[in-house]
Amino acid sequence: MLSRIGYSIKKCWQHRLALRGFVRKPELQLSTIYQLPEVNLDGVKALILDFDGVLAAHGELTPKADVIPILDQLQGYKLYILSNKPMPERQEYFAKHLPAIKFVKATRKKPYPDGIQEILRIAELEPSQCMVIDDRLATGVVAAVDIGVRALWVSQPFINLSSNRLVESWFILLRFVERLLLA
Ligand SMILES: [Mg+2]
Repeated sequence: MLSRIGYSIKKCWQHRLALRGFVRKPELQLSTIYQLPEVNLDGVKALILDFDGVLAAHGELTPKADVIPILDQLQGYKLYILSNKPMPERQEYFAKHLPAIKFVKATRKKPYPDGIQEILRIAELEPSQCMVIDDRLATGVVAAVDIGVRALWVSQPFINLSSNRLVESWFILLRFVERLLLA
């Protein structure tokens, strides 16, 4: 855990100019996943989606109900879920209900690029043909930047303060610090 935080800080510093671009440039952002079908994803063959904040609020076991039709609209792409919380219930949900979407369990969590590299390997694609969609600059986005994979930063992640106040507050704080340091 501590070495992962140290690695994240090192990588965020190394890529601070690129990360600042995500905070400042609307074309590198997605307010929520609802906008994804309208984005011009020229040359992109695979989408690597984060779970928490992107498909549902933190700790949920399934995507939000109104996100499912969005995932359906994205079936022209190879779709992968890369979450730092690969709970069995989540994996089972996708295997049972959305089997075209592969849930990838990485050896080392983001910001280590292992999971993205694994997807590049199984999808047989180049970094420029993949797009990471993540609400955390210091994990998913910096991992993508580090290995030359394109990324969109989700700027208005799904939050459910009533069901998960402590965890959500922690992540709100983390996102606030990320923006503060990079803005
Ligand atoms: Mg997330």
